[in-house]
Amino acid sequence: MFLYNHFNINEKGHLCMDGVDTVDIAKTFGTPLYVISRKYIEDAINEYHRIMRANFGDNYTIAYASKALSAKFIYDIIKDMSVHADVVSGGEIYTALAGGMKAENLHFHGGNKTRNEIGYALSVGIGSFVIDNFQEIAIINDLAKAKNITANVILRVKPGVDAHTHEFIQTGKEDTKFGFGIKDGKAFEALNAIISSENLNLIGIHCHIGSQLLESKPFAMAGGIMADFMAEIREKYGITLPHLIMGGGFGVKYTYSDKPESLDDMIKNMADAIKSSCAKNNFPLPHITIEPGRSVVAPSGITLYEVGTVKELPGIRNYVSVDGGMTDNPRYALYDARYECVIADRAGENRDYLATIAGKCCESGDLVTKDIYIQKPQPGDILAVFTTGAYNFSMASNYNKTPRPPLVLIENGKPVLKVRGETYEDLIRLEI
Ligand SMILES: *Cc1c(COP(=O)(O)O)cnc(C)c1O
Repeated sequence: MFLYNHFNINEKGHLCMDGVDTVDIAKTFGTPLYVISRKYIEDAINEYHRIMRANFGDNYTIAYASKALSAKFIYDIIKDMSVHADVVSGGEIYTALAGGMKAENLHFHGGNKTRNEIGYALSVGIGSFVIDNFQEIAIINDLAKAKNITANVILRVKPGVDAHTHEFIQTGKEDTKFGFGIKDGKAFEALNAIISSENLNLIGIHCHIGSQLLESKPFAMAGGIMADFMAEIREKYGITLPHLIMGGGFGVKYTYSDKPESLDDMIKNMADAIKSSCAKNNFPLPHITIEPGRSVVAPSGITLYEVGTVKELPGIRNYVSVDGGMTDNPRYALYDARYECVIADRAGENRDYLATIAGKCCESGDLVTKDIYIQKPQPGDILAVFTTGAYNFSMASNYNKTPRPPLVLIENGKPVLKVRGETYEDLIRLEI
């Protein structure tokens, strides 16, 4: 009935998440509201551990991609689950440390890390830098030299795999701003620069071929190409790199028409391709890291809104406006994203009303999702939007001077406030 099985309907006909009535949660904490299931996140991580262990023994790392949802509570959960974190900014490093992560378990990504951010990362003792461009090779080396330390670095390469997904989130192809090409020789140029930098310690190579990938094939292709490239590096430089980082991108169900291959298959097919390349090249199986973000948190979350105006345009579309929108969830505006929704207070009734869920901003692109079946809405209803745990809270803005909503975590069967909602005062707090 629902996309994920941490949802059910209680005797009042209300939508429940981890057994907690979402209409009650909305009453207690107000709307709009992000609600996240701690149990879902823990189960998802345990599932990754199980599958990685089955394929690689103990020779693997799971690094949660912070950008999907970065807040202290997330790090507080993952730090005790043998999970590292990817970070892409000084702010994410700061938040991860505040959430209790060890700096050595953080890996710093990003296409344009500033000198300040690099200095900050070095000063806290970051685990590694994922090198994305020539400029930062020199900057990291200089700043490490000044501190008299060596920095662990990983080279991000483009395996040239064309992952079938929305164009905006394709990052493994040759025409992308991320990483160095293998085919055009840039990766070797970067390796030359890194290897001749005294204060850099090259430990591996990295790729991330895209996001919301629903098939295992691109992961397998990339795995084979990356492992072959490690053998090529050994041939050229005589170094056997110990780490291969395969990125994230494992897709989730946003709608009933999304049919991702099982995680078991995605990772097994990737592992098989890496292993067969290693066997062919007589290369020792490297330590494999994966970097899931979305698949750990997206299904864990819902957003609760109150329905406001309902505008029916006969023969065109029914616009159902909610008390949030692109400010708490810009994914429709960015990626044309689709979501499943229900009226939480009548979740058991048929979904036979075709609605387009609109936000309250002055932008015609301010939609939550388009043309989705929900129960016939009435002003005052609570609308639940599923699968909003990733790239929602972390992408929220204050457009139209809209305060960002609070976030509640369901743990041990109770909703616990983890992030307070902003007040009007907060909105002008930094203004002079
Ligand atoms: C975004 C990103 C991820 C996580 O991607 P998901 O689709 O959220 O799993 C992992 N690694 C890198 C380098 C990324 O940029």
